[in-house]
Amino acid sequence: MDIALVIILGALWGSFANVCIFRLPKEKGVVSGRSYCPKCKKKIVWYDNIPIISFFLLGGKCRKCKKSISIQYVIVEAINIVSFITIYYFFGVSVITVLLMMLSISFLIIFFIDFEHFIIPNVLTFPMMIVGFLKSFDPNLPSLFPNYINSLIGGLFGYGVIWSIIYFYKQLRKKEGMGLGDAKLLAVVGFWFGWISIPFVLFLSSVLALLWVAPDLIKKSKKLTSQIPFGPYIILASILFFVSKQKLMLML
Ligand SMILES: [Zn+2]
Repeated sequence: MDIALVIILGALWGSFANVCIFRLPKEKGVVSGRSYCPKCKKKIVWYDNIPIISFFLLGGKCRKCKKSISIQYVIVEAINIVSFITIYYFFGVSVITVLLMMLSISFLIIFFIDFEHFIIPNVLTFPMMIVGFLKSFDPNLPSLFPNYINSLIGGLFGYGVIWSIIYFYKQLRKKEGMGLGDAKLLAVVGFWFGWISIPFVLFLSSVLALLWVAPDLIKKSKKLTSQIPFGPYIILASILFFVSKQKLMLML
């Protein structure tokens, strides 16, 4: 497969990710309905809707209302292109590549939705749990992914550990610290990467989240009890887990 094709696929799926990030929190149909400007609600013609390129041709402004278009659209598309190229570089044309591309798009969408809206949609976590579990029955993917027993334990462990944190936090503080969306996301991680990933991802995501809020805590603009989205840290930690596991396997 040509690298140009990977880039085009990355851009197109990246632009689909943008639609999901914009519409899923508003419960609007993702597939139905043409793209429109969120500011003036006018439809966007196809030549103004080319991933990345149109943004720069239009100077970052809507052709009709001249209001600025969020740079986030370009960032999401660029990240997706880079992740597609990276996956293709390491795994070529394979089932693993397709699986990892699916997971990376889902992670990308969840990352941005949770970051802005503090929600993790079930329409993303449920299918990814199922795919993560089903893929563990494929005998051709042994070393990279866990077998189905490990996958199942991983999923239950991931869900259970955050469910317990929520439960005990509620008993102690009479309020919720994390959401069940986080539990479902960690279940996805467990189904995909096995039970061993859970303590690693849980620990690393907590460290990352603390590092991120530390400056605000010091400035006292936030309290330790302030709500922060936890999903993005779970995602970053999972990527680090996967990459470091690959590295270790190459060394052995
Ligand atoms: Zn507009």
